[in-house]
Amino acid sequence: MEVKLAKSAGFCFGVKRAVETVYEQIEEQKAADKKLPIYTYGPIIHNEQVVKDLEDKGVRVLESREDLEAVREGIVVIRSHGIGKEICELIGKKGLICVDATCPFVKRIHNIVEKESVRGRQIVIIGNPGHPEVEGIKGWCSSPAVVVESEKDAENLVPEKDREICVVSQTTFNYNKFQDLVEILKKSGYNGSVVNTICNATEERQTEAKEIASQADVMIVIGGAHSSNTRKLYEICSRECAQTCFIQSLADLNLELSESVRLVGITAGASTPNNIIEEVQSYVRNEF
Ligand code: SF4
Repeated sequence: MEVKLAKSAGFCFGVKRAVETVYEQIEEQKAADKKLPIYTYGPIIHNEQVVKDLEDKGVRVLESREDLEAVREGIVVIRSHGIGKEICELIGKKGLICVDATCPFVKRIHNIVEKESVRGRQIVIIGNPGHPEVEGIKGWCSSPAVVVESEKDAENLVPEKDREICVVSQTTFNYNKFQDLVEILKKSGYNGSVVNTICNATEERQTEAKEIASQADVMIVIGGAHSSNTRKLYEICSRECAQTCFIQSLADLNLELSESVRLVGITAGASTPNNIIEEVQSYVRNEF
């Protein structure tokens, strides 16, 4: 039996950078004369183990704007998803130190929507309306943005007369679905621009997962239960491989492999630490 681990499994560049930023801040504060409390605006990644480890080292998570309002001093690290302009300004107004670990690919979207909305274009974000990255993007638009997640949303979009649109995407959105939704918008006769802002890391991870799942008898997808990119990976793999399982860590894995299993594929979402992937991989290699 062969075990094939996706090369693109696990932390992407932006998440790795954000997590490392928090650990760097911890080290800096250890060495500082006047120690400041460290906060992250939202959990730094969708991984309970990492968040717990940071918590043990004194890093607290601000869950909301109200939590931020209550902070008197300290350092606020912005995670890779980014935040809206208003929250950024609030951090500054309160005299807190902002360490911005927004992924540069997300920052690029902020810059696009800010510029295009100031030009008067209607911003259309293809993505999940509840996702913090989408919330952050909306927060850089000078007029309200529209979020399109499904075909129905795209069909129901009523064009404003003589107003061009600018379409961007949540970085972790499924590429094919993005194209389908853009097609619907184009057929409705919208004018304007479409910028594919789906991050390569996601596209590569999705393409590789699909390829491995299409050959595998069993496919294992590792990632946080709340991680939307992991859920999408699971969706993609399930379509290719009937025996696809979604686990957070080795503890969730309940594998029974029959003799006929030739290939077990493994992939992991963007916020899955390497040690968890390694654990699962060596378990499957050694136990079966
Ligand atoms: Fe950045 Fe892409 Fe990772 Fe999102 S998925 S944090 S855009 S590298």
